[in-house]
Amino acid sequence: MTNRQVLLAQRPIGMIDAATTSLVETPIPVCGPGEALIKVGTLSIDPTIRGWMNDAPGYLPPIGIGEVVRSSGVGEVVESKSPYYKVGDKVFGFTNWQEWVVANEQNKLSVLPTGMGLDLATVMNVVGVTGVTAFFGLTEIGEFKAGDVVVVSGAAGATGSTVGQIAKARGAAKVVGIAGGPEKCAEVVEKFGFDDCLDYREPHLARRLRMVCPSGVDLYFDNVGGEILDAVLTNIAMHARVVLCGAISQYNNTEKPYGLTNTLMLIGRRGRMEGFIILDFMSRFAEAQIELATMVRNGTLVHEEHLVQGLQHAPEALNLLFTGGNHGKTLVVVDDTVKLD
Ligand code: NDP
Repeated sequence: MTNRQVLLAQRPIGMIDAATTSLVETPIPVCGPGEALIKVGTLSIDPTIRGWMNDAPGYLPPIGIGEVVRSSGVGEVVESKSPYYKVGDKVFGFTNWQEWVVANEQNKLSVLPTGMGLDLATVMNVVGVTGVTAFFGLTEIGEFKAGDVVVVSGAAGATGSTVGQIAKARGAAKVVGIAGGPEKCAEVVEKFGFDDCLDYREPHLARRLRMVCPSGVDLYFDNVGGEILDAVLTNIAMHARVVLCGAISQYNNTEKPYGLTNTLMLIGRRGRMEGFIILDFMSRFAEAQIELATMVRNGTLVHEEHLVQGLQHAPEALNLLFTGGNHGKTLVVVDDTVKLD
């Protein structure tokens, strides 16, 4: 048996294409003392992977040319010479775009609890890093308060749809989404329960937002950056909080990033804009996960996963995030025998 791996072959300019990655077959890694051999089950496809492909400083080092593309995922322990892992454990961490990975001191994977009563895709979405990002971004960085008027971009996506539902469940006065196209906007309202959703592809976003949020936006959860962030800034209320979670509209830029023109609004409205990286909340993940799992079980948190079958399709799956071709959390199934107990 071999280990199929997707390597970074060259640095992309703009969207990744066939030349960006190469699929290779190498021997299955050997499990040494203190290590565990993991069969990779499902990969989490996150926009940040595109950023790691650039030769630019970031919160993690760039992926090197010839290295396996970095990605989180869930796998199953098939052999263990470590006291931390036992055969059959399901583990989460950097599995990367490959079929087999070794867990050790340099690459620690965390053992998932058993008996959650939730399937793997759900756990990798709303109860995983995506849900936790939505939770802490809204509650800690955004300092959400009941009665807030909340606006969320990327609203039909994995993070955005979760943010809006948590805000609704916690008593937001109004939750408005921003998404691309009428179909996604309808889904944001009908499936995810937002009060309204604006299509950013239509003109005059700032003006339309003023119509639906006449008293201003108390909390803006930004997943996209660029012109949409600028449009929302013109509509912020006094003491607004702008949460910079992501800027997906900028990740494939071939020119310099969009320059915001409306940051002066933060002065007059005494507003605050703050970015965050969810890794900073690692020690508090369980706090969010307990609440998110409860919401899933009692039906107050609806979720959607977009499953792509086959490791070889991971690059196309990544591009779906930038074309809006994904519907919900994007996951690549490498081996569907890896399931949660
Ligand atoms: P999503 O499931 O939301 O998928 C990405 C969506 O972004 C697409 O479906 C598309 O929706 C939208 N999009 C793509 N290009 C554009 C564009 N040019 N303008 C506006 N919208 C666009 O992905 P995730 O939930 O995984 O990620 C959402 C954001 O959260 C990303 O920016 C990501 O980097 C960030 N993030 C940040 C973390 C942190 O620690 N700070 C952790 C995790 C995620 P549509 O069809 O509506 O255009």
